[in-house]
Amino acid sequence: MQRVVSSWGRLGQVPHDITRPAFLDEAQAAVRSPGPPQLCFGLGRSYGDVCLNANGRLIVTDSLDRIIGFDRERGILRAEAGLSLDRLLRMTVPAGWFAPVVPGTKFVTLGGALANDVHGKNHETVGTFGAHVTALGLARSTGELLTLSRTENSDLFAATVGGLGLTGMILWAELQLVPIRSAMIDGETLPLKDLADFFRVSEESGDWPYRVAWIDCLAKGSAVGRGFYIRGRHAGSGGFAVHGAPRIGAPFGAPGWLLNSRTIGLFNTAYLHRPFVLGAKRVHYEPFFFPLDAVANWNRMYGKRGFFQHQSAIPTAAAFDALRRLLELTAEFGEGSFLVVLKLFGDKPSPGILSFPLPGATLALDFPNKGESTHRLLDRMAEVVLAAGGRLYPAKDATMSGEAFRAGYPDWRKLEAARDPAIMSDFWRRVTTETA
Ligand SMILES: Cc1cc2nc3c(=O)[nH]c(=O)nc-3n(C[C@H](O)[C@H](O)[C@H](O)COP(=O)(O)OP(=O)(O)OC[C@H]3O[C@@H](n4cnc5c(N)ncnc54)[C@H](O)[C@@H]3O)c2cc1C
Repeated sequence: MQRVVSSWGRLGQVPHDITRPAFLDEAQAAVRSPGPPQLCFGLGRSYGDVCLNANGRLIVTDSLDRIIGFDRERGILRAEAGLSLDRLLRMTVPAGWFAPVVPGTKFVTLGGALANDVHGKNHETVGTFGAHVTALGLARSTGELLTLSRTENSDLFAATVGGLGLTGMILWAELQLVPIRSAMIDGETLPLKDLADFFRVSEESGDWPYRVAWIDCLAKGSAVGRGFYIRGRHAGSGGFAVHGAPRIGAPFGAPGWLLNSRTIGLFNTAYLHRPFVLGAKRVHYEPFFFPLDAVANWNRMYGKRGFFQHQSAIPTAAAFDALRRLLELTAEFGEGSFLVVLKLFGDKPSPGILSFPLPGATLALDFPNKGESTHRLLDRMAEVVLAAGGRLYPAKDATMSGEAFRAGYPDWRKLEAARDPAIMSDFWRRVTTETA
């Protein structure tokens, strides 16, 4: 079936030939079927083209969402790769288990979380999602069905975790969950007056597993880095109520001006001056981990032209200066960013060859697509990141050059060697073809 598909950034509406298998044997048959290159698509929460294969074939995995086994004593869950964290948490939280790593939205599949080896607010303490995957099943276009783990087919495991969906179709994954004593989080929100404050408070927050900062991207001069620092841990009591559905939805035809630099500025000012958000508070895991999920399809608020996200990882030694420069550039260009998230990454090694995190800091900013000027800003930011020895996150990217990709991921040829020749994405075409 031919269908127009876009990713979370809504930067293009691209026709694809869609297959939506309902069972694992149908999925295997789809992977084996001859024809032009194909790619798996989870819930399309990647911002750019890592989940797109323009005018080619997409295997949409969201119907493959069955639980294969759940050991409630040991917290080991095996499920089909199209299972979302949304559904996973609905089942595991009442049983006293939580996902070891969650990104900023629960509307991601296990396959998507593995293929981008996603990170959460606890990267410093537990590393990436893939570090908690004990085994996975992979279907290759040759018809092979393989079990991968750190000890079985370990090279292919390392290529598949963070492998951008290129090594085959992940059919199922087995995950070690973490025990919780309630669905609540004991959180604290502290004000940050500048970037130095961020590093100081991070240093003092070592015994909080979850840590993140929201930054005011329009602050200038000595106020650069002003914002909030949020830290939390699973609470010891409070019940096991699961999350509900999104409370509101963004209108489909939202005008592009809804999120412009003025409205974004107003949002940032209002957000930063909400005194009641400061201090200690016990909250449900939903607003703590997934505040944006409260508005279904909030990405539509950027209008028809869509939006970009810059997310970079910068090694510790260069982090302070590079972050300062990135925030200054954002303020200088005045493009405005609705969301600016700043976190530290720890030094737990990632299991994937191409996993994004590295010991240091990571900054994520959204920009409405204004065409040329937004591209210029993103290019300038990429230059700063590369000069600092850092890299950009493929899950969020739509503009990085092949040169920037290859400099950030010098091991990319190992993934190319492990790639299933029948699989291709727009992202991989874009960043590897210059030297192909
Ligand atoms: C609001 C928001 C907040 C976010 N916060 C974070 C964050 O904090 N940390 C973070 O790391 N990321 C974050 N992300 C990014 C998101 O976690 C990743 O892009 C994730 O991979 C999306 O999962 P998905 O199921 O939607 O996969 P898709 O976006 O559909 O696909 C992602 C990749 O996975 C591959 N893939 C999907 N299923 C399979 C399969 N079964 N077999 C093989 N390959 C497969 C695709 O080919 C593609 O390469 C955020 C995204 C949003 C929208």
